[in-house]
Amino acid sequence: MRVVVAGGGIGGLWVALSLKKAKVVLVSPKEMDMANTFWAQGGIAAALDPHDSPLLHYEDSVKAGGYFNDKKATMVMVHYGPMLVNKLVQMGFRFKDTPHLEGGHSFPRVWNVGDETGRRLLEFLDERVRQRGNVERIHSHVVGLLKEGERVVGVGLEDGREVEADAVVLATGGYAALWKRTTNPPSTVGRGITVAAEAGAYLTDLEFVQFHPTVALTDPPVLLTEALRGAGARIVDGEGKDVVNPLLPRDVVARAIYRFRREHGEVFLDLSGVDLEGFPMAKGLAETFGLRVPISPAAHYSLGGVRTDVWGRTNLKGLWALGECACTGAHGANRLASNSLLEAMVFGYRVALDVENDISEWPEFRFLQEIEVVVGKGEEDLRLIREVMERCAGVERDEEGLMEGASRLEGVSGVGGLARAVIMAALWRRESRGVHYRRDYPYPSDSFRGHLGVRLRSIR
Ligand SMILES: Cc1cc2nc3c(=O)[nH]c(=O)nc-3n(C[C@H](O)[C@H](O)[C@H](O)COP(=O)(O)OP(=O)(O)OC[C@H]3O[C@@H](n4cnc5c(N)ncnc54)[C@H](O)[C@@H]3O)c2cc1C
Repeated sequence: MRVVVAGGGIGGLWVALSLKKAKVVLVSPKEMDMANTFWAQGGIAAALDPHDSPLLHYEDSVKAGGYFNDKKATMVMVHYGPMLVNKLVQMGFRFKDTPHLEGGHSFPRVWNVGDETGRRLLEFLDERVRQRGNVERIHSHVVGLLKEGERVVGVGLEDGREVEADAVVLATGGYAALWKRTTNPPSTVGRGITVAAEAGAYLTDLEFVQFHPTVALTDPPVLLTEALRGAGARIVDGEGKDVVNPLLPRDVVARAIYRFRREHGEVFLDLSGVDLEGFPMAKGLAETFGLRVPISPAAHYSLGGVRTDVWGRTNLKGLWALGECACTGAHGANRLASNSLLEAMVFGYRVALDVENDISEWPEFRFLQEIEVVVGKGEEDLRLIREVMERCAGVERDEEGLMEGASRLEGVSGVGGLARAVIMAALWRRESRGVHYRRDYPYPSDSFRGHLGVRLRSIR
């Protein structure tokens, strides 16, 4: 059996390592730092302590998610966590002895290697993949899916080559770099998601994008970890007065900073009460800015993506997706900190199990409503896309801004189609829920307690 796995982040590498019998073709660009995984600071959440439990982790996750989670997916995620973190340790990966407590978690369960968890993990997994005899690596991008009837039977690469396969697995990351200010590497623009959707896969929850509140006003933007606030950092104005309680949930803090900046002026992260020895990133910034670092929110994590079931199966036979490019529903309307590396590992493991079994049933997804978004032809204009997303689909949205965005992106090509789909989904959801905040509909509404299914139609 031959399996194409696209993506060199934690999701793709974990699938490749978990496939035991198949011959694996792993497609990803050469640069490791193009994966969000490389930049992950906090760690992986998993309930390993005897006084903690997956059930407590479940409760924290659905509370953060605004009880909008797919309960089965969240349950699967938290229950597989301890086993997979233990597996990493058995493979020789070294976490620090004491897990962190992060915002929204009721127990210290975030396993880490200081603020370098992502990079260390990626280097470790990459090395393990190199040692596997059944994995061939191709440094390239998947630009299309090959289909025979309704079945996906391989991928097209950017150099024109085609690779046939019995199964195709996408772990190509999210789309938060469609915004101008982002914590993600610039290539995280949802290319894999767009490719899947153009082949007929359903996308969902695209409107749910998490904005990280404390991101330095540097170019590129640098994330100042949540742990700094736990260690005593304050969020203040130019005169040193508190702007918002720094320990409130991420989305509440992000909105408070956004509004203060719009109505009053600059906001800073005041590091004067923090021992910076454990925070090399913040220490470096303090050398440039002093102990008050100017901040504003930036697009950080995309909750939406290719709709999958709890085995990572999409609606297209032969196509699986996982990690940030997928939407299992495990995070609901807001992701709990450090649950995303976990989600990628858990569903990577399950996808590998599923792929090596003979699958005859594929899911049929039902949505509250479905829409189709047309992707235009011509050059992809990332500069325009980013400017529009930043202006029209940011921390707070309203109908006027979203309509302007939809019209400015009409007929755009490539990932512009995905960007426009995000805007259309945000326009459709006339309520505020989790990380999706509509200024003109500031409360949740029972009429929108469900999901929008999105398909892309290319006119290329
Ligand atoms: C600054 C920062 C800090 C974070 N901190 C944490 C944290 O502490 N804990 C936590 O749980 N999460 C954290 N996250 C989120 C987490 O890093 C990501 O959600 C997770 O790493 C996603 O893994 P992935 O494998 O799905 O995608 P990625 O790691 O983004 O990997 C995607 C891979 O696919 C490749 N690719 C893209 N398009 C194609 C294509 N068309 N064909 C082939 N390959 C393609 C990319 O180059 C990359 O190799 C953080 C994110 C950022 C940006």
